[in-house]
Amino acid sequence: MDSKSTRVLALISVLLSCASVPEYVNSKPAQLGTLHIWVQPDPVITANLVLDGCRFWEPVGVKCEIVQNPAKADVVVSVSYEPCLSLARKRVAATKTGAMAGVTALRPECKAVFPKDEDITEAWSMLGLSTMAGQVTLYPMCMSWAGGGIVVPDMVRRTAAHEVGHELGINHVPLSCNDNCVQYELDAAGAKLCGPAIMNAPIVDAMHITPIDADAFRRPNTRLFPNRQ
Ligand SMILES: [Zn+2]
Repeated sequence: MDSKSTRVLALISVLLSCASVPEYVNSKPAQLGTLHIWVQPDPVITANLVLDGCRFWEPVGVKCEIVQNPAKADVVVSVSYEPCLSLARKRVAATKTGAMAGVTALRPECKAVFPKDEDITEAWSMLGLSTMAGQVTLYPMCMSWAGGGIVVPDMVRRTAAHEVGHELGINHVPLSCNDNCVQYELDAAGAKLCGPAIMNAPIVDAMHITPIDADAFRRPNTRLFPNRQ
């Protein structure tokens, strides 16, 4: 196990709505390998929705397959119906239990990054978590708009795509190169990729990976089989 296996990275629920989020297109991707995924049986977070999300990565050569046996999976996806608390509230709870990881408070000066003058820290909630070592958790109670209680399938797909990206070894990509307001990871090479991407920490309004995601995947710290390395 390397140090990465202890990391937990979250996707959060402020929707970054971009007028045009570029799509990475590759008409002849080299098939690098198959990522085997097991999804905890659930009536809402279905294996097919998770598979749809994983398939965002097909243009870079990742083939996705659902398996019936978690022991045969590269990535095990669990579903948690814990109540959807804002990150701020989770943080308070975590301080008491010492159990929280991967969550960062937003500094006051960073609120300007977002379009509305509101307490963004209070508004953010967690959609998914990845250990970057073969374990993903999805939080359906945070996947409805405006507290409507009905899970939005595209949010499941996007979240699954993002968490699979972590399992492939990709850290967060900042939306802006000047943005250091959220917990972003830099890879070993230190080069900074930035712009709209499925691997932005706040969820982006796209149903595909972007050229930046593809560049992030091509970095040397990515890998196809999180459980086998
Ligand atoms: Zn993330």
